[in-house]
Amino acid sequence: MSRNGRLGQDAKVLLRKLPSVDRLLAVPAGIDLITQFGRDLTVEGLRTVLDVRRRQIMTGEAGLPMNATLLGEAKIWLLELVAPTLRPVINGTGIIVHTNLGRAPLSVWAMKAIQEVAGGYTNLEYDVPAGKRGSRTVHAHDLLTRLTGAEDALVVNNNASSVLLMLTALCAGKEVIISRGQLVEIGGGFRVPDVMAQSGAKLVEVGTTNRTHLRDYEAAITDNTGAILVVHHSNYKIVGFTSEPSLPDLTALGRERALPVLYDQGGGALLDTAKYGLVPEPTVQEAIAVGCDVVAFSGDKLLGGPQAGILTGRADFMAQLKKHPLARAMRADKLCLAALASTLRSFVSGRATKDIPVWQMIAKPLRDIEKQAGAWAEQLQAQGVSARVIEGQSAVGGGSLPGATLPTKLLAIDHPEPDKLAGRLRQNKPPLIGRIAEGQFLLDPRTILPTQVGLVEQALRIHT
Ligand SMILES: *Cc1c(COP(=O)(O)O)cnc(C)c1O
Repeated sequence: MSRNGRLGQDAKVLLRKLPSVDRLLAVPAGIDLITQFGRDLTVEGLRTVLDVRRRQIMTGEAGLPMNATLLGEAKIWLLELVAPTLRPVINGTGIIVHTNLGRAPLSVWAMKAIQEVAGGYTNLEYDVPAGKRGSRTVHAHDLLTRLTGAEDALVVNNNASSVLLMLTALCAGKEVIISRGQLVEIGGGFRVPDVMAQSGAKLVEVGTTNRTHLRDYEAAITDNTGAILVVHHSNYKIVGFTSEPSLPDLTALGRERALPVLYDQGGGALLDTAKYGLVPEPTVQEAIAVGCDVVAFSGDKLLGGPQAGILTGRADFMAQLKKHPLARAMRADKLCLAALASTLRSFVSGRATKDIPVWQMIAKPLRDIEKQAGAWAEQLQAQGVSARVIEGQSAVGGGSLPGATLPTKLLAIDHPEPDKLAGRLRQNKPPLIGRIAEGQFLLDPRTILPTQVGLVEQALRIHT
């Protein structure tokens, strides 16, 4: 623009020469854009790039673009607009159930099960032999009762829903006794106690953060007590001088005082974690066996399935949960039920550590991890990058097992600015996420899926 605010003569000529949207829509590349993105969006894209060009011409920053350039820019704008924001990443952090990275990857069988029902009609709520309305709760019911030993089961949207439904349906307007040490945070800024408070039950905290005795529970029981609630210590661990009554002690107290004992088991472990070198924790079936009346857990932590909340327990309490209006508001959808049932079938057939990625990772032999880390270290050394294999720890994560780690072998890359390297690897397609410790960039092969190994090699070649 000239100093007195009027456009220079040259700019005016260029602006007149700039093609109209209609002209661009009429050329073959414009027609292609309409086919791919629809007319309205294509017009918006072309207007946007023409506006930018117009301004650049007025300020003298640029001259007249070719039509092909304008169409190319519009295509980039359109592609970015419709690009999915939810995309795969490579988890090299060594945190198996990584909440920020979408928790449990599904088994190939669970993905197949989703595919089979996703694109068509199903018997989700249809009793085929009887030819009439059925119930969606049947699809995972038999598998869940078989695996847990519970009388009945119900699947809802997630475990926060399970806990809310359990407390609302069984304890609204009543007092629920809980150990102070179990009022935990579950991530994402939400605290379990706040979710619980929505139920209308009044939480009565007993004991101190590190010690609670059975007599503390006994002393808190009143005429208005609705239940005893036990919450698994999920994502933190009270270390040192701690004690809490055992589940059998609490269920005995519940029996004696005719109070239900509700257990938020959290992770949904159905296998004995101690067998894999992790801290022992009560499995769902153990909690049922020792007399917990309702046990709630997540579908996408140690169960290794889709996001879901699962409730199992005594038939009379479960009937109350099933008929509560909130159960309708929290119901699981057909894709979830298909994937969950498939995941449960892997447990029923004893194939969990073969089929389910979370358990494959937990059970992954250390020598395989070391071999993989070693191969990457060699590749990098051949590229002239300083890298080696070091000892480290993988974490189960996801608030599933507190303080639970597994010895692992890490690829360690020396880099003067590891943050910069991490940033470049995050820009890889797909993003490769690692961690930084003591000035090194670290990758844990444990959480990298077999199908992504080639992608990691490529990312290391391009970005280091
Ligand atoms: C993870 C967890 C929850 C929340 O489960 P979501 O499936 O994330 O809703 C609640 N309680 C405990 C003990 C947990 O570990």
